[in-house]
Amino acid sequence: MPDFPRFGMFIDNKFTDAISGRWFTSDDPSRGVPWAEVAAGSADDVDRAVQSAHRAFCDPEWRGMSASDRGLLLNRLADLIAARTEDLAVAETRDNGKLLAEMRGQMAYMPRWYRYYAGLADKVEGAVLPADKKDMMAFTRLEPLGVVAAIVPWNSPLLLTAWKLAPALAAGNTVVIKPSEFTSTSIAPFLELVREAGFPPGVVNAVTGNGPDVGAALVEHPLVRAVAFTGGEVAGMAIAETAGRRLIPLTLELGGKSANIVFEDADIARAVNGIVGGIFAATGQTCVAGSRLLVHRSIAQEVIEKVVALARSARIGDPMEATTQVGPVTTEAQMGKILRHIEDAKAAGASVLLGGGRAVGGICDQGWFVQPTIFGDVRPDMRLAQQEVFGPVLAVLPFDTEEEALALANATDYGLAAGVWTRDLNRAHRMAAELEAGTVWINTYRTSGPMAPFGGFKKSGLGREGGRAAILQFLQMKSVWIDMGADGPPPFVMKL
Ligand code: NAD
Repeated sequence: MPDFPRFGMFIDNKFTDAISGRWFTSDDPSRGVPWAEVAAGSADDVDRAVQSAHRAFCDPEWRGMSASDRGLLLNRLADLIAARTEDLAVAETRDNGKLLAEMRGQMAYMPRWYRYYAGLADKVEGAVLPADKKDMMAFTRLEPLGVVAAIVPWNSPLLLTAWKLAPALAAGNTVVIKPSEFTSTSIAPFLELVREAGFPPGVVNAVTGNGPDVGAALVEHPLVRAVAFTGGEVAGMAIAETAGRRLIPLTLELGGKSANIVFEDADIARAVNGIVGGIFAATGQTCVAGSRLLVHRSIAQEVIEKVVALARSARIGDPMEATTQVGPVTTEAQMGKILRHIEDAKAAGASVLLGGGRAVGGICDQGWFVQPTIFGDVRPDMRLAQQEVFGPVLAVLPFDTEEEALALANATDYGLAAGVWTRDLNRAHRMAAELEAGTVWINTYRTSGPMAPFGGFKKSGLGREGGRAAILQFLQMKSVWIDMGADGPPPFVMKL
């Protein structure tokens, strides 16, 4: 076995091996070979991490820290991330194969999530209630929940960690992170920054290992009081079942089959960029991928030709190269799943307008690369139009009227995002109101910020990350009554 770099777990502010002493390999998606070893956690390691987080939660060093001081720690972490953007971006690209250009942008922007919730930490206020009883005072307090499990997928590991970690810490919880088993290495340099920022031991921990063992054990752990999950719907449903049985709150950010809708009055050049970016950026491995292009029939041919031409020009290759525009798929299994979707669409009668298979030549012969693929002749009931591919595959469906566009857009089980391309302001507002999606972009696509709640309608999820309200998902409300009257409560009846 070659000498791979090793990445341990993070418990009590220390990197540590698994109790079992076992390791699993992590693959380089660009070259299709293992490059690192990750500690293979088990339920015992989960217990260690949760116990550490629970101790930290009960310790006055964290429990007694003012919200303003928690905000200062989060701001310090943001400063450290900002100073290490390049290292973190390289670690992410190494780990999951997303373009270095994209990860540089993501890492440079990521501190804003920590700063947003740093600022919000001491602005969470209870209320003095208008108690309707003489000499009584009532008020509310917002208190942290305890240990929060943050379970993260492989497509944007550190950013999706930030979406959970920042509000959970701002609210005063402690956290155990479970990164994806396919991308467990980039968390290590990030956790060094958490330690350097001065978070007390146990406030932030990470256990590595697979979902069904380590992830499930985390959700089952009796001291875990809430779960924040991003990932696929199969794992999401399993987690929701456990959380339901344990009666703990959870947020689920799941998949999508998002529509990019181009009306006849759209700025076509702008829409074409948005459509290509919506599905081929990040090799289609984004939950918000605009995987369905709904286009008005009168402009369909022009739009399709331009989208095909732009996608065809994409430079596929090494994600570390600044000029690369489409990188590999993160896992071999995911590449297999995408290729099966492509073959299924062909068999169902969809016509290939571009791509349609594995990319070849140069580095593509080593790693897990799929051609940007576009299908025409797609019927709304085809699997391609209904199921998430999570890869660079676009289904084109023409429409004739606004009502038809809306009906098509809403005709999936998902509801994560949608794009609308029109110059008609009234139509833009009508569509924004009627689309069943947690995010609607008008004349743009795939943008987000910490101030904007993000999450899904329908099967795309439960709860929201981002925005002011997200911090409330990591807090519980307590009502306090104080009787200042001379008589006190009546002995045998309720004081009303
Ligand atoms: P996944 O569901 O397989 O895994 C996500 C995480 O859950 C991993 O850390 C995994 O180890 C863990 N996990 C798996 N089974 C588990 C279980 N039974 N109990 C506890 N944890 C478990 O998803 P993935 O393949 O890593 O990611 C791709 C999926 O994530 C896609 O469906 C995509 O749409 C979705 N996604 C959603 C968003 C969003 O914000 N809505 C963002 C990114 C990705």
